[in-house]
Amino acid sequence: MMAFDIKRLIRDNVRDLKPYASARDEYVSDGSEKVFLDANENPFDNGLNRYPDPQQRSLKSILAELRKLNEDQILLGNGSDEVLDLIFRAFCEPKSDNIITVPPTYGMYKVLAGINDVENREVILNANMELEVDNILDRTDDNTKLIFICSPNNPTGNRFISSDIERLLNSFEGIVVVDEAYIDFSRGKSWIAELENHPNLLVTQTLSKAYAMAGIRLGICYGAPEIIAVLNRIKPPYNVNELTQQKASQILLDKNLVPEQVATILDEREKMSRALTAIPYIDKVFPTDANFILVRVDDALQRYNQLIDRGIVVRNRSTLPRCENTLRLTVGTPEENIKLINVLKTI
Ligand SMILES: *Cc1c(COP(=O)(O)O)cnc(C)c1O
Repeated sequence: MMAFDIKRLIRDNVRDLKPYASARDEYVSDGSEKVFLDANENPFDNGLNRYPDPQQRSLKSILAELRKLNEDQILLGNGSDEVLDLIFRAFCEPKSDNIITVPPTYGMYKVLAGINDVENREVILNANMELEVDNILDRTDDNTKLIFICSPNNPTGNRFISSDIERLLNSFEGIVVVDEAYIDFSRGKSWIAELENHPNLLVTQTLSKAYAMAGIRLGICYGAPEIIAVLNRIKPPYNVNELTQQKASQILLDKNLVPEQVATILDEREKMSRALTAIPYIDKVFPTDANFILVRVDDALQRYNQLIDRGIVVRNRSTLPRCENTLRLTVGTPEENIKLINVLKTI
């Protein structure tokens, strides 16, 4: 096993890049009153007339404290989608590098590979929806830069076996990205705790799911300062707007709201899983560590359309490998879940 060498992984153009220095980068406010005539802003104060902090220091300090990390281990983006795109752009040379994804999984990794003109090597999960670690490692070569693991996985709902992810981290010389969009619903613990042991680990999280803030678009990437510094060099200067920074800080500092909502969602998840098991045409209710439940039915398209006709929209995941005739059901409010179960019983 070779040591992790970030210089080998970074694209040449990114390594040599001189980042755009914004007005707010060149002069960092120390909080004391100044006359700011450096950024061509409208000077009349309405709370938003100034550019936001490009390094999002205040928000990062809140996250650093919550996650027990340093601010230089945190990158913020306009949703996870931007964060994931930055990871591609930093490390993957178009037309020559490749990545590995493990379908059935989140579709954005493949889309981003396409946009960035990077080969996507797919290693399908086994019949238990677990990682095929040996097959994944066999498919890597000198041009494999990234492996994307979504845990808990969307759309299957399971979290992956820790020792499988550990083996990837120990054996792969590129970067393993663990997407933890659903970690707050999981019985397993976050890989953030393992960052100090694995220089090639990146963990992504989001405020879009448990934190009830999909509308503000805030994605987070945690990793070694060396990697985070590379991503910060290439991000658009003002990628996280002022309203998002303020709203994100507010929700993160509220110690009660999100944990209470998550507890309710978890209760509902268990109730729903039990109720779904009793429905005759549901052949399988997949175990879940997320805020959704994958079910296998007799005829997914027919059931999907019957639900739509009764005003309920779910996701048909049947085109994904190992997901024939499956629907993905998000856990809603108690009232919504009762409605879903009642409708499922009558169709
Ligand atoms: C929903 C989801 C995200 C969140 O993306 P945002 O751009 O932050 O809203 C990320 N990864 C997975 C697997 C998801 O399901």
